[in-house]
Amino acid sequence: TPRLQDMDASRLGVTRTLDPKPLKAPEDLIFGQSFSDHMLVVEWTAVDGWLPPRITPYQNLSLDPATCVFHYAFCAFEGMKAYKDASGNVRLFRPERNMARLNKSAARIALPTFDGAALTQMIARLCHIDDRFIPEYRGYSLYIRPTIIGTQNTLGVGPPGSALLYVIASPVGPYYPTGFKAISLEATDYAVRAWPGGVGDKKLGANYAPCIVPQQQAASRGFHQNLWLFGEEEYITEVGTMNLFVAIKGKDGVDELVTAPLDGTILEGVTRDSVLELARERLAPKGWKISERKMTMHELAEASDENRLLEVFGAGTAAVVSPIRNISWKGRLVSCGLEDHSEAGPLTQQIKDWIEDIQTGVTESPWR
Ligand code: PMP
Repeated sequence: TPRLQDMDASRLGVTRTLDPKPLKAPEDLIFGQSFSDHMLVVEWTAVDGWLPPRITPYQNLSLDPATCVFHYAFCAFEGMKAYKDASGNVRLFRPERNMARLNKSAARIALPTFDGAALTQMIARLCHIDDRFIPEYRGYSLYIRPTIIGTQNTLGVGPPGSALLYVIASPVGPYYPTGFKAISLEATDYAVRAWPGGVGDKKLGANYAPCIVPQQQAASRGFHQNLWLFGEEEYITEVGTMNLFVAIKGKDGVDELVTAPLDGTILEGVTRDSVLELARERLAPKGWKISERKMTMHELAEASDENRLLEVFGAGTAAVVSPIRNISWKGRLVSCGLEDHSEAGPLTQQIKDWIEDIQTGVTESPWR
């Protein structure tokens, strides 16, 4: 059989818009609501493989109502950011991680995989063409959304014979425009996000729609996010769409930074990995134990009761880190170590600074 064509960045065609959009004032940017002038599209067919990629003006897709993505959720996506450094250069943060994750997600739902380095190169081109959309202020960035969908027109349930990979970009402001705001969580005990052998470790569109109702339920009781627990043991897994980190002082007096292990129920966050790597490099020499291990809600509450819970924070591309004040669980409010007047603990603040300094090129790093 002839080898299918892989994604080929050297065949990228560019059609520039004749109608450039006016730029929004930075303070008016709302996450994911406005988009840059262009998009990247690459079509795939089971017969030919990846067709020549194109950058085109941002535009609607035209798809038959029978297209399989609308019925059986053949959709996987990524979320990554491009930042401007002090000299105005655009930098992607660890894009190879997003490419690897998108390939794993696509493969799990019978969509084609691709050469991640080629896609990164073309995303860089898109960022370069649309770089006027990235405001040159700290905290601003271009949120990049690579998406792959099955496009075959059929109600038959089977592997899609055609697919579309496209990348759109949305200018975004800082998650916390006026500085950190610690959030309150509600532990969700009546629904689970992911389970062993499931697909919670993949970034599939189908994983996200079912999370909205528990989120609304938490919000209706005054909480910012829900905390996903798993099993009778009530293991702590993730918070909303972020990984969770807990800093405790152990009963042995040793400081420990804990996050859930990648057991198939946890999304392999790029921010999670970055926090772990920086913590192992910079906190472990100061005596911190850095652990990927299971922690129950009971263990967290006990640490809180014994004044050993130091800090709790979420970690993800959108906010980098998000400090947590308390968690509602079994009718009580578990306090997460923050003083009343404080919006973030010193460790949370330190980790945010370390990562942002790398993202914006203040610190040189192979991660950009
Ligand atoms: N968990 C879930 C369920 C997510 O959707 C995300 C956002 N991609 C994360 C964690 C954080 O991952 P990342 O650090 O790669 O943004």
